[in-house]
Amino acid sequence: MADIKYKRVLLKLSGEAMAGEKGYGIDPQTVNAIAAEIKEVYELGVEIAIVIGGGNLWRGEAGAELGMERAQADYVGMLGTVMNSLSLQDALETLDVPTRVQTAIEMRQVAEPYVRRKAVRHLEKGRIVIFGAGTGSPYFSTDTTSALRAAEVNADAILMGKNGVDGVYNDDPRKNPAAVKYEHLTHMDVLSQGLNIMDSTASTLSMDNDIDLVVFNLNTSGNIKRVVLGENIGTTVGG
Ligand code: UDP
Repeated sequence: MADIKYKRVLLKLSGEAMAGEKGYGIDPQTVNAIAAEIKEVYELGVEIAIVIGGGNLWRGEAGAELGMERAQADYVGMLGTVMNSLSLQDALETLDVPTRVQTAIEMRQVAEPYVRRKAVRHLEKGRIVIFGAGTGSPYFSTDTTSALRAAEVNADAILMGKNGVDGVYNDDPRKNPAAVKYEHLTHMDVLSQGLNIMDSTASTLSMDNDIDLVVFNLNTSGNIKRVVLGENIGTTVGG
């Protein structure tokens, strides 16, 4: 068997990853393609937990800017992450990969409620667990959800798949061609230099709990597997 660097991972996908070329909504073909990539990693024997964002559907902050009450707008955002979670579950199960969706806001007709010990048991039994509805609380992000769930299930690392960016740079590589990519950073570097990988709540939580983070380009096929096998294709934060 190939040498696996991370045996239990928390894969963070932004909502954008579900949208495909249109850039918004859920594109089933794009979701199928991601599911196929995840299946490759699953077949290595890696235990996989997933957090999906909701930015392809709704962001609470944007709703608040348009006049909605922030907390209410955030609940709409959390429900969006459940739509993404169910879509990815469907795509994975079509490929015969066993999954469970657990939501931080109860909706028992469509998913299990989040129960940490049950989530861990699912992982041990070889089921992929998708965490929907973020933390269940407004004013948080799905990045913070990733750091929190990674700590709770004792994941070896958060694999943060980005759309079209292959790591963390000292400047925006899309605007500045001379921008330099970091291979390795500490969480403190990220916080003190204000590098925009995750929001500061998520970074602090990752630092305090010693959770490694690997930032990589999700758009290159096979990349999730490369990260799990320890190939140096992105930026590692922590460890
Ligand atoms: N959200 C929230 N609490 C959480 C996680 C998410 O209120 O614990 C809401 C928030 O409104 C956010 C939206 O869900 O804007 C979608 O999540 P996020 O912006 O993190 O998605 P991504 O940018 O990763 O697609």
